[in-house]
This record gives sequence, C-alpha cells and structure tokens, in this order.
Amino acid sequence: MKILLHTCCAPCLTWFVDSKIDLVSYFYNPNLYPEAEFVKRYFTLKNYASAEKVPLVFDFDKSKTVAGDCSDCYEKRLRKTAEYAKKNGFESFTTTLLISPYQNHELIRKIGAEAGEEAGVKFFYRDFRDGYKRGRELSRQFQLYRQKYCGCEVSHDSTKKVTK
Ligand code: SF4
Repeated sequence: MKILLHTCCAPCLTWFVDSKIDLVSYFYNPNLYPEAEFVKRYFTLKNYASAEKVPLVFDFDKSKTVAGDCSDCYEKRLRKTAEYAKKNGFESFTTTLLISPYQNHELIRKIGAEAGEEAGVKFFYRDFRDGYKRGRELSRQFQLYRQKYCGCEVSHDSTKKVTK
C-alpha cells in the first residue's frame, strides 16, 4: 500500500525516492511566498517527479495561507494531507518536513499524530533526519533548485530564519 507523502519541495523528496519508498507525493503548501517562489518550487518538484516516475498530487487553497506561525502552518498542511489520505484510501501519511534538521521536529510529530487521529488515518512517524545529508547530495546531483528560506513571508524577510 502506497504512503501519502506530504512534500514541501523536491530536494526534500529525493531521499524518499532514493530509498524506494512506495509513495504518492502530495504538494500542499499554501505557506509559500511570494507567488514566484511557489511556482518555482512546484515546477521543480513536478519535473523531478515526472523524471523519477513518482505520482504527484497538487492541491491548493488560497484561504489557508500562513505567515510566521509554524504550529498553524504545520497543522494546516498536515490536516489537509490527512484528509486527502483518508478520502483516497491511503493506509497512512507522513511528511518530508521530518527530514529537515531545521524544522521543529517534535512539533511536527505531535501535530501529525493529532491530524491522523482526527481524520482516521495513521500518521507514519520516523525520524528521517539521518537522510538529510544524502538528500542534499542527490538534489545537487539532479541540479534541483534549492531555496534559501523555509517558505512563508516572515521566513522570506528574516535574515535569521534560513531553514532549508
Ligand atoms: S517558518 Fe516555515 S514552518 Fe514556520 S510558518 Fe513559515 S513557512 Fe511555515
């Protein structure tokens, strides 16, 4: 049974693909700012997924934009992923955010579990951070666009919050 993998960007997906995890990539990131960055990240992912034959689902809800509140940001993205997983018969879901040493790992773990419980689908947790370095190597190898900030307007404007 395939796992639904919430995917923040192509570089963070590479390790999961390289590890031969049977997955469907789910792009739902209304946090991305500005629009040009959204488009850049999405098309980098789309081209990579297509080259690697990874099924990709695109979802968007403009009313759900967030800026600076990471808890709210994780919650919106993971809830939507859990709902999609439930609706489409996936046994479990998880997120590429768990590979990043720059994200709030424990908060993602907690919010993911809650989102899964609410939607009635299993949140697959593993600490994927040991794959981060390999993922960076792979994204260089594939010459993927690698962003310099997490995603939202606040992280874009902040010189301190360089999280990807
Ligand atoms: S810093 Fe990152 S996780 Fe936090 S709100 Fe912004 S985009 Fe979301």
